[in-house]
This record gives sequence, C-alpha cells and structure tokens, in this order.
Amino acid sequence: MKIPFNKVYQTGAEDAYVLEAIHSGLQCGNHQFCERVIDLMKKSYGFQQVYLVPSGTAALEMGAVLAGIEPGDEVILPSYTFSSTVNSVVLFGAIPVFCEVDPKTLNIDVSKIEALITPKTKMIVPIDYAGLSCDIDAVMEIANRHNLIVMQDCAQSYGTRYKGRPAGTVPHLATFSFHETKNFSAGEGGALICNVPEWELRAHFLQEKGTDRRLVLNGMKNKYSWVDKGSSYLLSDVLAAMLLAQLEHEAEIRSKRGQVTAMYDRLFEPYFEKGVIDIMRPTKDDELNNHAYWAVFDTTENRQRFMDECRKFEIYVYIGYMPLHSAPYGLKFGYKPEDLPITESIGSRVTRLPYYTSLADEGLEYVYDHMKEVLKEIYGF
Ligand SMILES: *Cc1c(COP(=O)(O)O)cnc(C)c1O
Repeated sequence: MKIPFNKVYQTGAEDAYVLEAIHSGLQCGNHQFCERVIDLMKKSYGFQQVYLVPSGTAALEMGAVLAGIEPGDEVILPSYTFSSTVNSVVLFGAIPVFCEVDPKTLNIDVSKIEALITPKTKMIVPIDYAGLSCDIDAVMEIANRHNLIVMQDCAQSYGTRYKGRPAGTVPHLATFSFHETKNFSAGEGGALICNVPEWELRAHFLQEKGTDRRLVLNGMKNKYSWVDKGSSYLLSDVLAAMLLAQLEHEAEIRSKRGQVTAMYDRLFEPYFEKGVIDIMRPTKDDELNNHAYWAVFDTTENRQRFMDECRKFEIYVYIGYMPLHSAPYGLKFGYKPEDLPITESIGSRVTRLPYYTSLADEGLEYVYDHMKEVLKEIYGF
C-alpha cells in the first residue's frame, strides 16, 4: 500500500456547488459562495471580519500592508516556519528578526521575544505549528505593552481553540490557508481575519485594487475611485464554492483526522516515555483541529533511518521546515546557523508524518504496523 504525505479529501458536496458557481454567471470574488463562506466562518468562530483571498500567502501579504509595514521596520517571527510568513513582510522592505521556538510546541518561544524588541520593531508574527496554537495571550501581553501589532499565521490552525477561544480571534490580524495540504481545501485559497474594526474599510480597499468599490456596492457612492494602495486579494467564487462544501463538513473532517492523531499517539507514546522521541504535547488549554503530526528524533541519523525504512514500505515521511535564518536567503540578513541553536537542532531531527483525512478510512493499521516495526529495529523495543 502506498501512503503519500498528503492526499486531498472530497466530501462529495463539492461538485454541485462548483457547477452552481460556474453557471451562476458571477465567478469573481465576493459573490454568493464567498459570502456564504464568510458567514459560516463568522458563525462558527466569531471572527470580527473575514476577507477571502487567493492563498494563505496572499492573506499574510495583505495583512502586512494593512499593518503598515514599511522599509526598515523590524518584524519578530519564528525561524521555524514556512517561507511565506517571512516573505510577507520582507516583500515590503521589513527586516526579519528571528526568534527561537519552544521545543515542547515548535511554536515561538514567548520568553525570548522581549529581548528582540527595538525602537524599530513594528509587528510580531507567531505561527500555530501543526495546528497547535501559540501562546497568543502571552504574545498579546508583550505586544500591548510595547504598542506592537500581532498578525498570527493560523495557516494550519483553522478550528483550533486555545483556552476556549478560536484561533484567529485574539490578535489584531490572523491568516488562514485553504491550500490543498491544509484541513479544508479550495485548491488554493486563504483568509485574512481583521479584528480591529477601524481597519476594516481600508482592508476592503486593499483587497479591491486600492479602490473604494466597496462603498459603491454598499450604495454609499455611485462611482469608485483609486483611494489607496492595494492589489487583487480576491478568491474566485468558484473556489469558494469548493471551500464551502469542505467547511460544511468540518465535524466529519475533524473527527476522521482525530483518528490519525490517536494512531500516532499510540505509536509514539512508548518512545516519548523513554525520552528518545519528542511528540506534540497539547495541554488542557488546547483544543486541536487535527492538522498534522510531528516527531522529533533523538539524532539526525535515527531520523534518516526512520524515513528511509518507512520509504521501503512506500510510506512517505518528510522532514519538517528547514529553519529560515540559516536558509540561503536568511543568511543574507546576516544570520549564522548558530544564532538560533535550538531551532537548528530541532530542524535537523524533526519529521512530519503522513497525515490526511482519508487515512482514517484506509491505511491506519498499515502505517502503525510498519512504523512500529521500523522503530523497534532502531530502538530495540
Ligand atoms: C501553508 C502555510 C502558509 C501558506 O499558505 P498558502 O495557502 O499555501 O499560501 C503560510 N504559513 C504557514 C505556517 C503555512 O503552513
């Protein structure tokens, strides 16, 4: 049996919605299906305002513009993240200031943020790795004390709650991804959440190529004009139709994925207990959306062996992110690998395990049995 790293899930409801969108005669952004997705998202999680955009990357970029990022601004973010998180601010001339991660969560180590703040710091961009929320309360406390903006990269955490509150509802700005590798897929898609009411109108202008078209749609003007900078940060209604089908099946998708997490927990628990492999450790404050599963091995060699042996059974395990500070473009900002030793060490030992919704229907036992065999070979138990 072949177990890929990721596989797109179809609920069966996509076809009818997509056809309806195609034949509606209105296929661009912010039409019927976009509005239904936005309503559903607000109803499910209470977001202040939702903008559907072409990708999680576009959401981050739009957020950076909305936050007023300018050349020379410093932005604090973890080095252990996807390139889009950092590119969104680098594109507008900001200087990335990389922070270490907490080895227990692989999220930003909040205790190390404050030492990185300078008079040039403008924003903090934490991420929710593998769907586990960062300690957003602590990040907000620091940000408020220093008058900084927080944009939370929730690309992986749609549906997660932290201390009872949904991911994306706490910071000034938050972003989601609906890329096919995430829990809910529009193929490519994303959302920007704006929790600052005074920024909402400007966000509409940014999304609509810097025009006040929104005021025309609202009947407040009869001709729109160019009023701000902006771009085309819009998701096509055809893709929103696909996304709506997925989000309407959120409970089903979450529950299937929960079976995948449970299988990996059962598999790795003995190795975690013995201290040779580190795994996700949600606390009672965390309610997870079941996005992904990671395991940090004791040595780089054992990680390699695990990946190689799994591949022999056609199970495709991947290494996680390569740290950004020591990536070719990160080095250009003057970083050296040893500047963030914890991130470097984790980056050299972490794996991301095959994880997708339909794995719950077929392959769970296959993965468990073969991985167990491989782990036994490596660790002797
Ligand atoms: C997936 C992801 C993104 C990018 O989302 P796209 O929709 O692929 O542009 C950004 N940040 C993180 C942490 C991600 O996991």
